[in-house]
Amino acid sequence: MAQAAKMSAFDEVNVFFDRSADRLGLDDGIREMLRRPWRELGVAVPVRMDDGSVQVFSGYRVQHNGARGPYKGGIRFHPQADQEEVRALASLMSWKTSLVNIPFGGAKGGVQCDPRTLSKEELRRLTRRYTTNIEHMLGVNRDIPAPDMGTNSQTMAWMMDAYSSIHGYTPGIVTGKPIEFGGSAGREAATGRGTVFIIVNLAKDMGIDPVGARIVVQGFGNVGMWTARLLQEMGCSVIGISDIGGAIYSESGIDVDAAIEHKKRSELFSDMPGVDYLTNEELLELECDFLVPAAIDGVIHSGNASRIKARVIVEAANHPLTPEADEIVNDRGIPVLPDILVNAGGVIVSYFEWTQNLYQHQWEEERVNDELSKIMTKAYEDVRDTARRDGITYREAAFDIGVGRVAHVADIRGFI
Ligand code: NAD
Repeated sequence: MAQAAKMSAFDEVNVFFDRSADRLGLDDGIREMLRRPWRELGVAVPVRMDDGSVQVFSGYRVQHNGARGPYKGGIRFHPQADQEEVRALASLMSWKTSLVNIPFGGAKGGVQCDPRTLSKEELRRLTRRYTTNIEHMLGVNRDIPAPDMGTNSQTMAWMMDAYSSIHGYTPGIVTGKPIEFGGSAGREAATGRGTVFIIVNLAKDMGIDPVGARIVVQGFGNVGMWTARLLQEMGCSVIGISDIGGAIYSESGIDVDAAIEHKKRSELFSDMPGVDYLTNEELLELECDFLVPAAIDGVIHSGNASRIKARVIVEAANHPLTPEADEIVNDRGIPVLPDILVNAGGVIVSYFEWTQNLYQHQWEEERVNDELSKIMTKAYEDVRDTARRDGITYREAAFDIGVGRVAHVADIRGFI
């Protein structure tokens, strides 16, 4: 029997979009306008490698929807960052910025490469070449990149410098910059902190005491590390963590600070003492209160969704559940807090950073965290109340709010 072709990441995200468009009663033309990216660019990124050879990488920038404001979205350096994945992530940004009600549209960029195999100098040259190749699409009131998987504040400093060398000093052109170079206090921890705000709100509604709650986090980069660290500070028991090389587990709880220290010395978790070692697949199937995928897309799929034993799934990564997995865990009564809500903390503090850059001003970290908490809590309550009112899942509610607002603004702007 012929096998059904595997859906692309963009098609998968659009399964959620299409169901939302049905519930909202959007007509075919509006639906098509909202589904399709408004502008896309693919670029060749030639880089002189340290050994003198030239390698040409593929880079992308996709501006999905700009109805509600300038395009906003991260830059991913990863071997799987192809056009379809970047499109999917760009569309999620449109619904995310709308759901949390900040004045941006949605975009994403990427370079298909493995940053772990490149030297710092090679990464610097790659970042600068990519920036100058997409520079004409960017602008403080047009499109503002940020870090994502495989990129960080150093990458943003290089991007800002490359852009500024053409346009003059422009700190607001990217967010997630180093604090001493126009960055915002609290930006580095923001996506993890936002994830924690969502867990705290849901735990309260479900009557779960966060103190002692059992947490599993997949991915120990910016998002996973901060989420695990802040949850442990609150008294949660982080029983499992992982990175691309594998996972560690301890029934009595892992010392997250010791794991952070260990990662500074060693590439791998597998030589950390006092813990058990698991594969990433085994980690996802651990019994726990909150399972937080914070690495890569599609890790919970039709093949493993029936074996997930978490009480709640909290999507800190973008698109970690395929639509099939989403249906399986919904049928099993496991609530899923969706990516466009959970990981919005990063873009919210990016919004604060952009605002500070426009005014050449710096906020204290306390103010950043307070304002982040207000916006995350309001978005959580909107999603929860819509889900209860309409008898739908948290993901469906989040999409209905996000897509509905974009459709409404596209209409009142009158460009169609
Ligand atoms: P990162 O590069 O800092 O860390 C990624 C982590 O995932 C690393 O620990 C890496 O080892 C691990 N990983 C990579 N591939 C894996 C695999 N196949 N299996 C298991 N682990 C794997 O990236 P990040 O910024 O923490 O982003 C993680 C996720 O969060 C992504 O989905 C990203 O789109 C999303 N996100 C990030 C931000 C942000 O502010 N950085 C904001 C919103 C959403």
